[in-house]
Amino acid sequence: MNLLLFGPPGVGKGTQGVRLAEELNIAHLAMGDILRTAVREGTESGNKAKGYMDAGKLVPDDVVVSMIEERILQDRESGFLLDGFPRNVAQAEALQLMLQRHGLHLDHIVFMDAPEEELLKRLSGRIICRACGFGFHRHYSPPQKEGVCDRCGGELYQREDDREDVIADRLHVYHEQTRPLLSFYEQQEGFARIDASGAMDEVLEKLKRVVND
Ligand code: AMP
Repeated sequence: MNLLLFGPPGVGKGTQGVRLAEELNIAHLAMGDILRTAVREGTESGNKAKGYMDAGKLVPDDVVVSMIEERILQDRESGFLLDGFPRNVAQAEALQLMLQRHGLHLDHIVFMDAPEEELLKRLSGRIICRACGFGFHRHYSPPQKEGVCDRCGGELYQREDDREDVIADRLHVYHEQTRPLLSFYEQQEGFARIDASGAMDEVLEKLKRVVND
């Protein structure tokens, strides 16, 4: 099964993406995680991406498109969940052509939404495992031991771009560039929209209902 989750920053694509992909036994392809790994490893793509990411801006399309294509091809047998790609209409068009070229398609395309106030609360309290990418929240879902991932024992950290000033830029980029994906996808087969403002388990149940349909 191949899935796409999209929506504003902080809506829980990553949090739910990890859980849903695990349930379905498919690969979780989170563009932000792929980029952060490339930055950490100092690859050519990572070096190109770093400045954009620190500023909360989108990394150029050619960089992200070739990175995600490589991962899609690696995981085409098991199926994959795309999280954070595409983030604008040009990327969505590139994805469509790429999938066609490889004889693949998206079974479900889910738009997750929540009020902006809620997104801000979620983003500013977010802490993430450096090793496995699993997300926690200082107040809503704290780890059992401060600073340590419940799942793998990795170190938890706050992302540079989860600072308040950068969050505002990321939300602006979302409204300008990513939200138009809604008109691109809403008429396509497999499209669903869910309210992601509730508790984490409730949102996961909603997602499972959509994909098991
Ligand atoms: P995320 O972890 O999904 O919030 O992504 C973190 C940052 O990585 C974004 O603010 C962008 O700078 C960059 N990024 C992630 N996905 C994309 C994409 N599809 N296109 C361009 N930049 C991206």
